[in-house]
Amino acid sequence: MGKKQRLQSPSGMHDVLPEDQKYFDKLYNIAENLASFYGFEKIETPVMEFSELYEKGTGLNTDIVEKQMFSLKTKGGDHLALRPEFTPGIIRAFIQHGMMSLPQPVKLFSIGSVFRYESPQAGRFRQFRQIDFEVFGEKSPAIDAQVIQVFYNLLSELKFKNLIIEVNSIGANCCRHYFKKILTSYLRSRLNSLCLDCKRRARENPLRFLDCKEEKCQPIKVQAPQIIDHLCEECHNHFKETLEFLDELGLPYRLNPYLVRGLDYYTKTVFEIFADAPGQENILPIALVGGGRFDALGKVIGNKDIPACGAAAGVERIVSLMKENKLRVGPEMKRDVFLAQVGGLSKRKSLKLFEELRQAKIPVAESISKDSLKVQLARADRLGVRYALILGQKEALEKTVILRDMQKGTQDTIKIEKAVHEIKKCLKRKR
Ligand code: AMP
Repeated sequence: MGKKQRLQSPSGMHDVLPEDQKYFDKLYNIAENLASFYGFEKIETPVMEFSELYEKGTGLNTDIVEKQMFSLKTKGGDHLALRPEFTPGIIRAFIQHGMMSLPQPVKLFSIGSVFRYESPQAGRFRQFRQIDFEVFGEKSPAIDAQVIQVFYNLLSELKFKNLIIEVNSIGANCCRHYFKKILTSYLRSRLNSLCLDCKRRARENPLRFLDCKEEKCQPIKVQAPQIIDHLCEECHNHFKETLEFLDELGLPYRLNPYLVRGLDYYTKTVFEIFADAPGQENILPIALVGGGRFDALGKVIGNKDIPACGAAAGVERIVSLMKENKLRVGPEMKRDVFLAQVGGLSKRKSLKLFEELRQAKIPVAESISKDSLKVQLARADRLGVRYALILGQKEALEKTVILRDMQKGTQDTIKIEKAVHEIKKCLKRKR
């Protein structure tokens, strides 16, 4: 391995630096508040699962499994894969831990990294984070609408403008099978005009043709049969009711007959949420959230009937939009007090005082590694604290501390054991 490589993170995998953490924290906070409001409980599954789980669940013919999975063989001979998405792992956990016997629906959410071996480019990484919400054990289209609502709320709380929900139904086994036949025969009749990938898709996974982005395939797409015209009665009603719920909720959606979402397990509703990139209206809107219903996945993975619906939001893309929109994220924790120290003994004493202040829940900052009082007070100034507690060598010996009012510039010497009490009194007075 070359020197250069050793000093760089792997391609498509990035560090989240301290200055960016506030954006992630804000987003996670909103997600957790929404989760608790809508009754989703947090679950954490391993970052690796047996590769077979994704091969069966996500599907062997999907790009994610076929081309993008990071997999390895352990020393013990197990074939494992880094999760390329949350859903199969969460449904595996749902079945493994007998959550079917809990009152249904069971609503779960998770936040963490997923891994896909993609060609890295702007907004596309090999390790990225997702916020994932899933509802298990409920067939009603009200759930489809609620999942969409939760993600829409997540994005609107970040004040994103021009959000648009694209929605489609891809039916279920009852009608999709028949539609695939119709589509395949249509594609066969146009085989020579299709791009190379779609020639293959026509044989293996014809639905994927519908979301092909190749210029060549666009005119053929426009004339292709549409699945919503071929839904069975149950799937048709489910879709109609989902849209009625979305209307009732006043959510901005548009039908996209080409949205198929590329995974094998979706049934009925599929959706994505997009936002315009500010100042780049001529560029394609950015996909921030994707999901849908997957009533058949429980059967495939664990031979259980588990109606389910869920979606995932891409954290990095959302954070980058938060920054582009110059979204104000809360300042660092506001500190009221700065604890400064000069000299060896006072350093030791200030450590203890710092802990006492923390236990009393007083927002306090320090620069314990700095020796110069000037440097420390400059930091206190920058933080905009109201009071500084200053422990010099003399004070440490006399068991006292200087309490300085930073705004007035006045100061008093007080007993060190009274410091917490005095500070509390001052802060109360100032409020
Ligand atoms: P998916 O699981 O493919 O439906 O993706 C859900 C969301 O994750 C997308 O809408 C994106 O916001 C985000 N996403 C998907 N792939 C990537 C990637 N390679 N890098 C960054 N974000 C991604």
